[in-house]
Amino acid sequence: MSSPALPRTDRSAGRIRSARTMPATATLPDTVWVRLRDVGLRVTPLRRRLVRLFASTRRWYTPQELQATALRAGLHPGRATVYRLIAALTEAGLCRSFPQSNRTTRYVFCAPGHHHHLICLDCGTVDSLADCQVTVPDRRFAVLEHVVDFFGRCARCQRRKIAGAR
Ligand SMILES: [Zn+2]
Ligand SMILES: [Zn+2]
Ligand SMILES: [Zn+2]
Repeated sequence: MSSPALPRTDRSAGRIRSARTMPATATLPDTVWVRLRDVGLRVTPLRRRLVRLFASTRRWYTPQELQATALRAGLHPGRATVYRLIAALTEAGLCRSFPQSNRTTRYVFCAPGHHHHLICLDCGTVDSLADCQVTVPDRRFAVLEHVVDFFGRCARCQRRKIAGAR
């Protein structure tokens, strides 16, 4: 039967682009640079490109991995530059850290605005959920903030897993 349905890849892309997830913007809001300057970081062209890379690739990174990714992108930050940048981003509330069991720490770039993360433990992809559906189980408790992240396997890795099992 020939139907005008979209190819499978397009349909799945449509799901990923649904209103629930935030768009992957190449341009970052000016508040990012303002916040970084506020915590005392000099926003040099190299640091600017590093932040853009960190934000646009939508993955969680160890500092070493971020440095390696930067090298592949033609940037050459030293180890100290990467650590300094991550520290400044964290201080500016633009980065979240996830300590790993092997004593390394992975970092996720956090765009301004409330959101939750969907982190793939297979490929390290990070998606952001902009619409918050978290409800507080105890109504007598006055919540000031909450942090909720989801760890699992992304749609692409699930398909890869199924294909590999055949
Ligand atoms: Zn985030
Ligand atoms: Zn994945
Ligand atoms: Zn929330």
